[in-house]
Amino acid sequence: MKSVNICFFRNIFRVHDNMSLYHAIQSKPDTLLPLVCLDPRMMDLSALNGLLKTDFKPPTTWHYGIDRCSRFRTRFIIESILDLKNNLLKRKSDLLVLYGEPEKLLPELRDFLAKKGLTLGHIHTHKEYAYEELQTELALSKDFNITFHSDTTMIHPGDVNFTFDKTPRVFTPFRKRIEAMPRPVRALLEIPKELPQFPSSGHEFKSPSTLTSRSSSSSRSRSTPADNSDLESILNKICPPFEADSRSAYPFSGGETTALSRLDYYLFGTDRIAEYKQTRNGLIGTDYSTKFSAFLAHGCISPRLIWHEIDRYESISKKPESETTSNGNTTNDDNSLGTYWVKFELLWRDYWRYLSAGFGNQIFYLHGFQSVEKLELLKKSPKETPNPASKKYTGVWLKDRETFQKWCQGTTGVPFIDAVMREMKLTGFASNRGRQNVASFLARDLYIDWRMGAEWFESYLTDHDVYSNYGNWQYVSGVGCDPRESIRHFNIIKQAKDYDPKGNYVKLWCPELKNVPTQKIHAPWIMTEEEQRRSGCVIGKDYPKPIIIVDAWKKHSLVKGGSKTNGNPSETIAGFFTNPKRKQRRL
Ligand SMILES: Cc1cc2nc3c(=O)[nH]c(=O)nc-3n(C[C@H](O)[C@H](O)[C@H](O)COP(=O)(O)OP(=O)(O)OC[C@H]3O[C@@H](n4cnc5c(N)ncnc54)[C@H](O)[C@@H]3O)c2cc1C
Repeated sequence: MKSVNICFFRNIFRVHDNMSLYHAIQSKPDTLLPLVCLDPRMMDLSALNGLLKTDFKPPTTWHYGIDRCSRFRTRFIIESILDLKNNLLKRKSDLLVLYGEPEKLLPELRDFLAKKGLTLGHIHTHKEYAYEELQTELALSKDFNITFHSDTTMIHPGDVNFTFDKTPRVFTPFRKRIEAMPRPVRALLEIPKELPQFPSSGHEFKSPSTLTSRSSSSSRSRSTPADNSDLESILNKICPPFEADSRSAYPFSGGETTALSRLDYYLFGTDRIAEYKQTRNGLIGTDYSTKFSAFLAHGCISPRLIWHEIDRYESISKKPESETTSNGNTTNDDNSLGTYWVKFELLWRDYWRYLSAGFGNQIFYLHGFQSVEKLELLKKSPKETPNPASKKYTGVWLKDRETFQKWCQGTTGVPFIDAVMREMKLTGFASNRGRQNVASFLARDLYIDWRMGAEWFESYLTDHDVYSNYGNWQYVSGVGCDPRESIRHFNIIKQAKDYDPKGNYVKLWCPELKNVPTQKIHAPWIMTEEEQRRSGCVIGKDYPKPIIIVDAWKKHSLVKGGSKTNGNPSETIAGFFTNPKRKQRRL
């Protein structure tokens, strides 16, 4: 009998610096089977039912039944898988793609391989931290010799001096502990140019029908019919290619190859990273921020590679962006460093993973990481329905579907909100500034259950990553673990005027407002009837009446905006979240 190890690419679609791949070949197996298993609980595979004789149902989100995975993310994943296969072929290997629940298909695959004279040695895959993924891990652990590698974070959890449950409850102490480490990020793993042989019978695997669990109790799991030679046409049935919106800030195709060229472009090709601190609050175009997010979310790029490439950029850059200290860290006393701020944001990404691993399911709770405290509060306070216009927050969340739909579709009558939501719906992306504002608006101005918003993001975002999405939603909604929640109640009109002073962003996504005078573009309801007529935008007819006008907006509605697109001068690296002045005013 020959031995076979499996490298199971769950949601890491790359070859470089891939821990599972690296470890899968260390024991020198006779053969290596790289495997992807598209899970019908995460992606709509129903278009394959005819071909595979399956009964896959379109999956929906947990609480509010929204389509789970929009065409943007589905397509990005498909492109990433095709690129992965190509990259494996270049290393004399190949990729087997299965369609079904891994805990059902892998035992069948093992039996099949045994019949073909192959003994399954070990499965290597990466570790996840959210409920559904953990259930799958539990099921697989019972049945297999399997190792889950901590491959999704930049900072390896084994290298920090605290366990997940002792992760600092506030970001700044977390960041400081990481920055105090002499070498916070591990060296990259070298993957050989030639991988062990792909088992010749690999593509012959055809799963017998298997009943699946939960949402699709009558559905059946299958592999591809005969072989994977026509992988692209099968994947295209799931979601055919489509033209990106010409206004998209995220027109990138999925995959390791695009991810690596984007990294090179943003650092060495254009030096855009040097200006990141000044441009990162931008709203239009591909280059105001790195656009690494979807590549990171689907493991097309290693976060450790980004870190080390930034270090390399700093060391060879003609105008060094920072000085290097004796322990190899960069100094952070100049808060204009673009390189530092990209690393800073990447640490936020790690932080949500650490918290999710430490807090377990609380990431999905309505009262979030503050569940215990908020439940106590609720017991004491009357369960009245809050008046959205009132500043008093009672801790009761609304589930008003009609208002929620207006938010989703970008028809709230508040231009900045509508622009962000339309951009997301038409492109699968929105800027960080935009996401913060629409989240704050839904949760803090409309008091709608923040998880409805999180599920909408889950559906539409190409870069959806459960930890960053739910973590950020909790944070903005005031149920996260940082107690200074009041500073994140955004004044939408002030934000719009600061970050879109001429209204260019709003006009891009809400063309019906294109002739509205700049001074009133963010609050068009204050136009006189004559102005509405002249600008061809009658409120209530050409553009919706606002569903809410918050008192605090009024003083900003007519004031000329001060552009913050070049960065907020009050931000400093050390004091970003601790500057006491920030507590006294709304963002
Ligand atoms: C309500 C809300 C939901 C969000 N949901 C997601 C999500 O599902 N997936 C996701 O990747 N990001 C999410 N973010 C974070 C952030 O908006 C995106 O990472 C960022 O806009 C992506 O663009 P970029 O790659 O150009 O980011 P850049 O500004 O260039 O940042 C570089 C990288 O740092 C990481 N990063 C930046 N900001 C954050 C942050 N606040 N939290 C975690 N990581 C961050 C991302 O990996 C990003 O690619 C969310 C933010 C909010 C406010």
